[in-house]
Amino acid sequence: MNSSNDFQGKAVIISAPSGAGKTTLVNKLLKAKLPLLFSISACSRAPREGEEDKKDYYFLSVEEFKEKIKVQDFIEWEEVYQGNFYGTLKKEIERIWKEKKHVVFDVDVIGGISLKEYFKENSISIFIKPPSMEVLSKRLKKRKTDNRESIKNRLEKSFEEMKSIDKFDKIIVNDELNISTKNIIETVEEFLK
Ligand code: ADP
Ligand code: 5GP
Repeated sequence: MNSSNDFQGKAVIISAPSGAGKTTLVNKLLKAKLPLLFSISACSRAPREGEEDKKDYYFLSVEEFKEKIKVQDFIEWEEVYQGNFYGTLKKEIERIWKEKKHVVFDVDVIGGISLKEYFKENSISIFIKPPSMEVLSKRLKKRKTDNRESIKNRLEKSFEEMKSIDKFDKIIVNDELNISTKNIIETVEEFLK
């Protein structure tokens, strides 16, 4: 999928249990002066307040999503939460590499492992670890984007996801935000060298 003779597009894969802070850290990373672009995933959940189609996600109906699965438009896809599908579009990577930028993924833990298997040494997979499950629970509540049931589901899933931490190239504990921001930027800078 390399788009030119002298540019080797790479992939930066960021995964974490929901609420650990990966969106926050991905946004910090994208603001650093590095040649990176965010891979906009497709998803079938409804947009949250402030989210925009084609910027945060390609928002699709379940039917549209399933059609794309059928025609093999995805590198990976998953029903991350019951009834909510998320997936990485092949075309999105082509678009980013054509612009001579490296691609950044914000995906769940299983998606991160799949993408690492797909991009291999051309990628770095980073696991954002919450300081503790108590802090994770507090952050989800404070974010106010999920109801009780959804927070419960996300926390249950987190316990499972923590078991896969060793499959990642690098672990960053997101405790003090300034420190984890510096850590993620330095890690990615080093990988892109
Ligand atoms: P994720 O994308 O992993 O689900 P978010 O980036 O949405 O997580 O972060 C979850 C909540 O925690 C948000 O309200 C965010 O502002 C907050 N948060 C993120 N990182 C930190 C941190 N290091 N310290 C305190 N709060 C944080
Ligand atoms: P949210 O609903 O909070 O935006 O995202 C829910 C979860 O889906 C997060 O862990 C997010 O990283 C993950 N996710 C977003 N896009 C993709 C994707 O393309 N593939 C996979 N496997 N997970 C994704």
